[in-house]
Amino acid sequence: MSVQRILLVEDEPAIADAVQWTLSSEGFEVDWASTWAAARPLLSRCDLAILDVGLPDRSGFDACRELRRDHDFPVIFLTARGEEIDRVVGLEIGADDYVVKPFSPRELVARVRARLRNRRAPVESQTTESVADFAIDLDRATVSFRGRALVLTPMELGILRALLEKPGRVLSRERLLDIACPDGSPSLERTVDTHVRSLRRKLSDAGAGDPLETRRGLGYAIRVEPGS
Ligand code: CA
Repeated sequence: MSVQRILLVEDEPAIADAVQWTLSSEGFEVDWASTWAAARPLLSRCDLAILDVGLPDRSGFDACRELRRDHDFPVIFLTARGEEIDRVVGLEIGADDYVVKPFSPRELVARVRARLRNRRAPVESQTTESVADFAIDLDRATVSFRGRALVLTPMELGILRALLEKPGRVLSRERLLDIACPDGSPSLERTVDTHVRSLRRKLSDAGAGDPLETRRGLGYAIRVEPGS
């Protein structure tokens, strides 16, 4: 993993020095800016920003709102006692965490690590599932084959997803109906055949060939290219 770069925006040199020193000794690269104007050009290369709420040229809150227009890296606020922020307000602005001064640089580093870890986790467990050459975007309810989008009905998407969960496994029409149509709307098992037929046509149009197998008397399965 490449070295992670932290942007520290803090106008008090004593605090900045301590934080910078601790972060560096923990293996982070640190960019230090004492004003928001100096921080701006550094935003595009950082993995996380630590923002003092009381900056000379901009409030940390406004700075955070501004950076959130273009960046989604984690932001940790540094707040002085007395300007302790409402956690909810901070989160609404787009901050991920905050630390109240005086704090121990070690504590801050622990927060930094936690935020960077949280950030990586969703990337791995993203709402995209990939099986062989298929990618399923669960948020958008779309599927693509080798980058080519398939426009599927919810039933077709449900069937394809269920089959892709375990390529080669045979799922009965009844089971597919349950999965693809969980609200129990009155459909017949026969309708599964209709959806599979339409799904076949779309897969073929997208260049996926005909990966769906009909197992007479049993149901359907999908075959995918191994290791692709
Ligand atoms: Ca300050």
